[in-house]
Amino acid sequence: MLFERVAQALEDVERESSRIVMAERLAQLFKEGKDNIKHLVYFLDGVLAPPFYGVEIGLGERLVIEALAETFGFSTRDVERYYVKYGDLGSAAQVLAERRRQSVLFSSPLTFEHVFSTFLSIAHRKGEGSIKVKKKLLAELLNNASPLEVKYVVRFALGELRLGVGYSTVIEALAVAFLADRALAHEIERAFNRCADLGFVAEVVGNKGLEGVRKVDVSPLVPLRPALAERLPSEVEIFKRLGVCAVEYKFDGFRMQIHKRGTDVKIFSRKLEDITYMFPDVESTVRRMPVDEIVFEGEALAFNVQTNTFFSFQETIRRRRKYGIEEMEKKYPLHVYVFDVLFFKHSLIDEPYSSRRKVLEQLFPFERLRVSPMFLAHSAQDIRTVFEEAINKGLEGIMVKDLHAPYTAGARKFAWIKMKKSYGKSVDTVDAVIVGYYYGKGQRAHSLGGLLVAVRQGQQLVTVAKVGSGFSEDEMKELLFKLEGVRVLAKPREVQSHLTPDVWVKPVYVVEVAFDEITQSPVHTCCWKNGKGLALRFPRFVQLREDKGVDECTTAQEIYDMFTLKSGK
Ligand code: ATP
Repeated sequence: MLFERVAQALEDVERESSRIVMAERLAQLFKEGKDNIKHLVYFLDGVLAPPFYGVEIGLGERLVIEALAETFGFSTRDVERYYVKYGDLGSAAQVLAERRRQSVLFSSPLTFEHVFSTFLSIAHRKGEGSIKVKKKLLAELLNNASPLEVKYVVRFALGELRLGVGYSTVIEALAVAFLADRALAHEIERAFNRCADLGFVAEVVGNKGLEGVRKVDVSPLVPLRPALAERLPSEVEIFKRLGVCAVEYKFDGFRMQIHKRGTDVKIFSRKLEDITYMFPDVESTVRRMPVDEIVFEGEALAFNVQTNTFFSFQETIRRRRKYGIEEMEKKYPLHVYVFDVLFFKHSLIDEPYSSRRKVLEQLFPFERLRVSPMFLAHSAQDIRTVFEEAINKGLEGIMVKDLHAPYTAGARKFAWIKMKKSYGKSVDTVDAVIVGYYYGKGQRAHSLGGLLVAVRQGQQLVTVAKVGSGFSEDEMKELLFKLEGVRVLAKPREVQSHLTPDVWVKPVYVVEVAFDEITQSPVHTCCWKNGKGLALRFPRFVQLREDKGVDECTTAQEIYDMFTLKSGK
């Protein structure tokens, strides 16, 4: 398929605001590009493969700017000027291509297959001299592309198409294209939740239709989308909603989705990256389990052998690293509190919590794989008792679970309700996205002064706070280092802000921020109405949440709910 067809469809989608029309336009593209459907779906997501394959395009903004300058005969300063003017390197590149100062010696029409495979080659280049080759491959694409194609090649190179198209629109488009019925989108979503690979599901629906999609199920070694918890303010409301329910401690470590088939073991993070290599201790324990096939979930905590207690989250998280694994493994041995079983002999996710729990208790504990303790609550008071016990043990809070609910893969539902120690008190936390940062003042001019953070409001990111305290020296250094790596020259288009930080960054890092209350603000754009927005009062940095993606951060609606709940408005 000609890449021109893809670029034109994306352009049409970008200009459209109705989700229904967007989905229809995408459906047209999907029908036309049925042979490439898997890669088309990845392309729309700005990736070459789902996160668990670990294939990253790996082109920084700097390199793309240089490639543009060299291909079109501009200086990098010129490219940067256009970038700042258009606020998006893709749109700037389109204009540069129209005004190119270097004539094309030879050009042939681009096909989608060629564009995708070139990016795969770029991703696979590693080691010495690879930067030069990556830039050359990108320049070749740019050279052969029309100005409109240049726009989308550049956006894809940076890993974001900025179309405002989420999974749900793509799923709807697939239903329209291959099932001729938008109302069947939920069947595609169901399959996606069970294998976390929308490209694969698209291929199945394209080739095998509804029957094929219905057969997609949980399978060992293939990650599924994790269930998420809702929050309610008190035990009374929780009991009102669930009746007799299960209460578990909420451990503050990191989540692991663990798969075993024969001697193969895989561990996936909450964001579904394959993190098996980071945890050889857990991997070998799981391999020793006397079962052939299993998928289960748990919270991993580092255990302090000297004191016979668990390390804090800040210490535990040090196990999540790419290097120095052996040393950390000795220092911070992990124990996993298993809290759900998703596959044993067959998929268990449609079975109620109470049945899954029985299977769990048959299979665990096993060595360092412990069973997450569970208490049955027959009243709101019972919930409160376990909650207080948890807090006295130094834990974060509790997870209350609906005894009758299936495992709600890929969804935040009331099957699980979390209650944390901050609720009901003056301190609460949100997970916000860093969109920019400020430098310190005076002697600290080159260190981190503060973060501008935002929450999700539809497809946009709206600011809620400037976070200037709560960091240790080390955390500041680490944050600054990380943020330098994702700095961008202009405000990302999806960010709505009245403030201009010293540096804008690509919104990829999620931070947990504590605050005292939510107040109205003339400065922040969250829930903006009649010249006022909502903001966090006394925001403090708690921790970086590298296990969370931007699409999982707090929403403006949640901020609004917290505001009305506390202020009684
Ligand atoms: P939070 O920000 O409140 O820590 P979260 O946003 O990361 O939570 P939620 O889905 O809201 O994620 O809360 C569930 C998380 O709590 C799970 O991702 C898991 O890592 C952790 N957890 C700890 N103990 C349990 C448990 N017993 N059952 C389920 N999840 C647990």
